[in-house]
Amino acid sequence: MFLSIKEMELRKIRFDEAFAPGELNFEEDDVNQAGPLRAQGTAELLANTEGEVRVQGRLEVLMEAECDRCLGRARFPLDTRFDLFYRPMAYIAREEEVEIDEGEAQLGFYQGGGLELEDILREQILLAIPMQRVCREDCKGICPTCGANRNEAPCDCKEDHAGDRWGALQGLKDLKTF
Ligand SMILES: [Zn+2]
Ligand SMILES: [Zn+2]
Repeated sequence: MFLSIKEMELRKIRFDEAFAPGELNFEEDDVNQAGPLRAQGTAELLANTEGEVRVQGRLEVLMEAECDRCLGRARFPLDTRFDLFYRPMAYIAREEEVEIDEGEAQLGFYQGGGLELEDILREQILLAIPMQRVCREDCKGICPTCGANRNEAPCDCKEDHAGDRWGALQGLKDLKTF
């Protein structure tokens, strides 16, 4: 959905959109959209500014990624609010220094006649996914020695055998031959 400046000059844009998995591109981000994305909110041109746009709203989606520890599936149900400010690119060219004094608010820039809602949502989703992607808080991960998934069965390997990469590789190989 294109949020057009021309339209915002007339009225505040209200959006209430749903996007099925695949409509937004997450291919390069190592995450998958696992359920419908719903986004509601408004986009408005702020009075007495040189084309500053405010986009506020809320999004809900279920995202998935590979667990950092066990390589299993980690799920992230997101329900997040956003309140974003965008200035036209031309603004940077004119102002030698762009002072960002919006406090907590996030500031971005747009080019041309407006903004793509999909780009905004994609960015907000990626920001909302935790840095540490684990399937659960206490995920025990993969044993570095034998390669077993320690969530499924404890192994008898000694802990703190860091650096034993050969052992881990050997373990994975053994698993594959089963
Ligand atoms: Zn895990
Ligand atoms: Zn082990």
